[in-house]
Amino acid sequence: MVLKKAFQTVAQLVKPGGTHVRFDDVLEEFLKHHPEAETEDLARAYAFGAKAHDGQLRKSGEPYFQHPTATAYFLARAGLDLDTVAAGFLHDVLEDCPVELKDLEQNFGADLASIVNGVTKLGKVKYRSKAEAQAESYRKMILAMSADLRVLIVKLADRLHNMQTLEHLPQEKRERISQETLEIYAPLAHRIGMSQFKDELESLAFANLEPQAHAELRRQLEERQKTGRQTLQALDQQLREALSRNELSGEVSSRVKSEYSIHQKLQRKQTSLEGIYDYYAFRILTESVRDCYAVLGALHERWKPIPGRFKDFIATPKPNLYQSLHTTLIAENGTPFEVQIRTRMMHRLAEEGVAAHWTYKGGRLLSVGKTEYTAWLRRLVEENQDLSDHEEFMESLKAQLLSEEIFVFTPAGDVKALPKEATPLDFAYQIHTELGHHTIGAKVDGKMVSLRSPLQTGNIVEILSSPNQRPSPEWLKIVRSHGARTKIRQWLRNEEKKKSIELGHSIFEKELKRYRVALKSLSRETVLQKAEGFGFRKLEDFYSAIGFGQITPTRAAEPFLPEGALDKPNGEEVRESRIARAIRRLTKRGGNQVTVKGQEDVLVYLAKCCSPIQGDAITGYITRGRGVAVHRRDCSSMQASLVDPERRIEVEWDKNQETPLFSVRVLVHTEERPGMLLDVSQALKDAKTNARKFTASVNPERNQGVFDIVLEVSSINHLENVFKHLRKVKGVLSHQRVT
Ligand code: MN
Repeated sequence: MVLKKAFQTVAQLVKPGGTHVRFDDVLEEFLKHHPEAETEDLARAYAFGAKAHDGQLRKSGEPYFQHPTATAYFLARAGLDLDTVAAGFLHDVLEDCPVELKDLEQNFGADLASIVNGVTKLGKVKYRSKAEAQAESYRKMILAMSADLRVLIVKLADRLHNMQTLEHLPQEKRERISQETLEIYAPLAHRIGMSQFKDELESLAFANLEPQAHAELRRQLEERQKTGRQTLQALDQQLREALSRNELSGEVSSRVKSEYSIHQKLQRKQTSLEGIYDYYAFRILTESVRDCYAVLGALHERWKPIPGRFKDFIATPKPNLYQSLHTTLIAENGTPFEVQIRTRMMHRLAEEGVAAHWTYKGGRLLSVGKTEYTAWLRRLVEENQDLSDHEEFMESLKAQLLSEEIFVFTPAGDVKALPKEATPLDFAYQIHTELGHHTIGAKVDGKMVSLRSPLQTGNIVEILSSPNQRPSPEWLKIVRSHGARTKIRQWLRNEEKKKSIELGHSIFEKELKRYRVALKSLSRETVLQKAEGFGFRKLEDFYSAIGFGQITPTRAAEPFLPEGALDKPNGEEVRESRIARAIRRLTKRGGNQVTVKGQEDVLVYLAKCCSPIQGDAITGYITRGRGVAVHRRDCSSMQASLVDPERRIEVEWDKNQETPLFSVRVLVHTEERPGMLLDVSQALKDAKTNARKFTASVNPERNQGVFDIVLEVSSINHLENVFKHLRKVKGVLSHQRVT
């Protein structure tokens, strides 16, 4: 009798030709939980949905709207508020009908619209991988996406009805959906304490995935039902008597263990149905916690409890806040049976989970959504801190609460967890290192975005790449994840090393040539042997050291030269900065205007990013392969977080050098008036500077002139002098150096 009742709920909705849920059924369930609610909006939502889906059919050939109606029914049954039940009727209209978000907002308010919108987004998520790690990320992500938990609950109801009507789908799809239900949605239902949804989802998934095991179990259960009925009725009677004899009140009912949990238990314990203690199970609902313990005492007096089977979840609730006393007793004939004792409120919490924590008025949620949900989660975390065996559960709640992680999708629907504020570049590196290195852009939810724009949970991210792209030091400022940062650093380091090897090789070759020795005439072994004399095991390291400037070319060449050759180079002056000459030829860069403190013979060049000019406060940075780069001290690429402090080096302007000319870009804003162009040109002339580039334009909105000028100056003082002359021009509003 009891078992049959359990199957009925499901069967009613599944069986083709059976009773279908109608609006009245939904209304009836809704009013059970919210007797004095105004239900006009529910009827409007029903009518709106029916109209929107009009003419659409399900795979079974039945009108499509039966699906949303069944979804709303499950939500009403679970005691949800009016907006959520109404959202059940409308949960597919954004996806399948020409209805837009604003239509829902106008007709039913922002609350309902945002629930439907959330469900639609969840619907785009496709779970593929079977790896447990993926499943956990996926569950976390769905929790995170359901900032308003009602979104998840609608999704669960939607899934429940889809599971009941799987038979019309091809086998492969049935299995995939069942697997997803078992791995993702049933655990989520459990996590938010909605045990009825969980049991039903599991049973249906079980029936689909293991039809034979399911049929066999059902056969056994039905067989036992015949003999079991008498046992159940007898025990039920005895329980009531035990209560009244002790003058205790309590509502006794028998409970059916769900098929799937029996199946799991059978598998886990390798036992038969007879070995399951809680096959016969009763529930006693009381008015108070005190009564719970009183009832327990009375039962333990009457029947012998099985040691180790008593559990006090009232004193120590489960992480999802489940509270109850559990005990297993032995009947006179030796049959074990389980009794659960709890208050009516605890029972409501167990069945409805998170929904029972919300406060309704007239069927509507009082303080809506996120605040309530967050408060609920916070309470869970605080009250269950000592439950270390549920670490993973707590972890995911914390992740949600503190939002340390975000979850995004690949275009194929895989979930990737990233740190908060991660960018498309982090995502690319997480997919694959090579993809990261070649990233040129990204599409988020179909729209082009900058590589810097932070991702949000639920985004679908597509990376655009090019084989010609390569990482730059700038990227270190863009990424948030440790992994991506390490990979970029590694690449940059390798690249520098490669360059320094090439450069070192060229320098070395040219140096030998000055003494009339051809590098090609030396065997690899010979070079390696001599390189070992410097402490290098690999030729690359030797060349790299030359390129980097750790060994001067002369020292490097010495062991390869005939005796005395060092004094007679190829007619060139030995004293001159030799690396600099070699590099000048190689890179066509200008000579040194800067010296490095305490170092001779080191190649120096002016960094392009900030173009320092003589007189600027400067700092040096050793770049393997190209010598020392000179930056302005305030250059953004010299931020502490981006550079290796050990490679910073002090540099100063060489005052003895004949002053070369530096290029500097200057922007000048002026009033718009006739003759301005001429006056600005004259000012430059007066300041004795040449313009390499001179562009004048007008900003019509502000009625301003803009001059973009690249000047040649000899020093920072010279530049100051230019500015002084510019300021004398009537109508000049501002001038600035641009880097
Ligand atoms: Mn649906």
